[in-house]
Amino acid sequence: MAIVVQKFGGSSVANPERIKAVAKRVVEAKDRGDDVVVVVSALGDTTDELIALARQISERPPKREMDMLLATGEQVSIALLAMAIHELGRPVVSLTGGQGGIITDATHTKAKILHVNTDRVRRELAAGKIVIVAGFQGVTPDYDITTLGRGGSDTTAVALAAALKARECEIYTDVDGVYTADPRVVPSARKLADISYGEMLEMASLGALVLQPRAVEVGAMYNVPIHVRSSFSRETGTLVREERVVEKDLVVTGVAHDVNVAKVGILDVPDRPGVAYRIFSALAQEAINVDMIVQTTKEQQTTDMLFSVSRDDLARAKEIVEAVAKELGARDVIVNDNVAKVSIIGAGMVSNPGVAARMFEALAKADINIQVISTSEIKVSCLVRAEDVLKAVRVVHEAFGLSQADPEAGAAL
Ligand code: ADP
Ligand code: ASP
Ligand code: MG
Repeated sequence: MAIVVQKFGGSSVANPERIKAVAKRVVEAKDRGDDVVVVVSALGDTTDELIALARQISERPPKREMDMLLATGEQVSIALLAMAIHELGRPVVSLTGGQGGIITDATHTKAKILHVNTDRVRRELAAGKIVIVAGFQGVTPDYDITTLGRGGSDTTAVALAAALKARECEIYTDVDGVYTADPRVVPSARKLADISYGEMLEMASLGALVLQPRAVEVGAMYNVPIHVRSSFSRETGTLVREERVVEKDLVVTGVAHDVNVAKVGILDVPDRPGVAYRIFSALAQEAINVDMIVQTTKEQQTTDMLFSVSRDDLARAKEIVEAVAKELGARDVIVNDNVAKVSIIGAGMVSNPGVAARMFEALAKADINIQVISTSEIKVSCLVRAEDVLKAVRVVHEAFGLSQADPEAGAAL
């Protein structure tokens, strides 16, 4: 019997009616003869509400306690979904992340899965039950509760699918697949039939919320086919897998944007070996991810270093960089959270020299100023003013002919 993993996001289980609809869909899969493992997120905006609640108590709550709080969201949804499936007369059991064998490191609020112990899940499946596992949470080897970062239920689902050697991991969400841009920002965006792990990883890392980047990484590592689809329709969604069969010639596959970005600058820092190492190792020690980095060369013996971090990390990053700046004798530290990032992604970019220029042209024509640029073989990212980012997504999407109705869609440069 094949195992399938089905993951339902927050909006798919936002209220009792939707939970009942999910229960029906799960039972249908079971009736088709598969063993079914279900991963659920917290109801609707529960996680945001819990974060807001914590902020009313403390500006910077201890991360361990944050995890203790946030993990409660998913515990509510697994229990309610199990009750709904029970109502349909099927054997079912709900498990917390820890009970489901999700063992993580102790990096609270951003924990990484170290290992999935599938014993319990397999035992319950063998007993004929539908198994529901709480998304987003795990336990450390010392039984401390952890969470996997925002959107982490995707990673729970893919990791379980990998460990159980499932046939497929279905990610049910509120859009019917992965689009060439966020369909809420670009209504004419086109649904992709499939996308490679590499491109999906870039899209996700660059802000396309639809999958957590770590989920894509785990999927690629263990070759788990990930099917992103809507919990509100029956339509086939987007398959994330090794090789894209269609649309191979597309130079640019999609446009992503990220508003959860802030810029940090350390000004007039002495220009000598070891400075970048000192700054970025201090940030790495605190598990702060640094993204775009630019260093400017000046006439004097000093340099300016600019980089971007997630807005969630800004307060802590500022503290760390201020301390390091003092130690190194830098003149000043500046922070700016009125920025956002727009990116183009595509495996075909590497052999097409004009791609970045076309993006810059589109932004220039729209009078949007670029503050920082970074590129890799399959992406180009630009930091722009926060208020310009949605317009930036639209003009760049347009410039590459990615819209549905566009007869040139997919045309090579
Ligand atoms: P869930 O609660 O199901 O995990 P998320 O809100 O995390 O759902 O992710 C789904 C959302 O991702 C969609 O509502 C959509 O607005 C957003 N999104 C951003 N970029 C894309 C994209 N390229 N394709 C599809 N959806 C995207
Ligand atoms: N509930 C968590 C969040 O909102 C995890 C998830 O939805 O994947 O980030
Ligand atoms: Mg999500």
